Amino acid sequence: MIKDSHPEFFEAFSVLIHQRQSIKSNILITAHQNPDGDALGSALGLHWFFKRLGISSTVMMPNRYPAFLDWMPGSKDILIYEDEKEKVESVIQDAEYMFILDYNDLSRAGKGLCDDLGMSKAKKFMIDHHVSPSGCAQYIYSDAKQPSTSQMVMLLLMELNSHELLGEEGAACLFTGIITDTGSFRFPLVTADTFRITAALFDLGIDHTEIYAHVYDSYDERRFRLLGYMLAQMEVLKKHGVTVLYLTHKQQQKEHMQKGDTEGFVNYGLNLKGAKVAAFFREDEDFIRISFRSKDDVDMNTFARTHFNGGGHINAAGGSSYDSLEETLKRFKDLIVNYV
Ligand code: 5GP
Ligand code: MN
Repeated sequence: MIKDSHPEFFEAFSVLIHQRQSIKSNILITAHQNPDGDALGSALGLHWFFKRLGISSTVMMPNRYPAFLDWMPGSKDILIYEDEKEKVESVIQDAEYMFILDYNDLSRAGKGLCDDLGMSKAKKFMIDHHVSPSGCAQYIYSDAKQPSTSQMVMLLLMELNSHELLGEEGAACLFTGIITDTGSFRFPLVTADTFRITAALFDLGIDHTEIYAHVYDSYDERRFRLLGYMLAQMEVLKKHGVTVLYLTHKQQQKEHMQKGDTEGFVNYGLNLKGAKVAAFFREDEDFIRISFRSKDDVDMNTFARTHFNGGGHINAAGGSSYDSLEETLKRFKDLIVNYV
């Protein structure tokens, strides 16, 4: 029970929803930069809950979300900081309450926005499943054993006996966050709770087949061409169970890559028989964005933190490098063979 594990958060959240008449301004709901299914899912899920409760809230993301999520109920009203800085700044200034969803430190909102959020006088509530939350919020519900933030939102609402307020729309959003962050119920942190709350989402009327089609059967041709390059040049360190994947900047330019086209590419590395670690390096104009995935107890959070200015979870982390692609790949291979 969250009431016992996170009493201060639970108490403050309960008070917030019971005092709803006295809330003067919008509640601001935020998630991390490069928002994924769980960032959008948890934020929009909470938004639908507040809406049906009679509390108005604004969902704001640091930058644009991938196109395969643009069907999500409420997504059209999301404020994008990158596109509407001034508007967002005024919403932040006016906010009495702010939610920090699916990220553990304001820096994960990105440069610029991070400072604006930090200066805000809003009471801050964090709901997140990344390790080592910073103290940037007054009320923190953080649990790295949870497979998704969307699951945490649902657990909270169920404990308050209020989850039916989500409606089909909010339920669809949380379901999306759950399937995208658990690899459709297969990652190790999935528990019986995940299925129990999913059952409750079904009871709210979600159309799971339609949601799966939106999320997984809506790829652009570009994605398949890029996947082709990546798989053709894959390197396998067979003895160590490591799959090294990458795309050059040139290849991405050639196919006119767009945000989200390479989402999930790193997971192919773990589909290989015997693989324990997969890394995907995407060469950008001036840096390299890296995704790490692992199986069992190979801790990629620590690895990413120590060597690649990043972090995340034990089995899924990310980072970046400012060396050339060639140097970065070499450095990674040298480090990882001693790490696994
Ligand atoms: P992805 O590979 O999907 O971009 O990221 C995997 C996980 O690692 C996500 O949960 C994400 O929040 C986390 N992550 C990715 N990049 C970074 C980073 O640069 N810093 C930190 N602290 N976490 C990251
Ligand atoms: Mn998440």
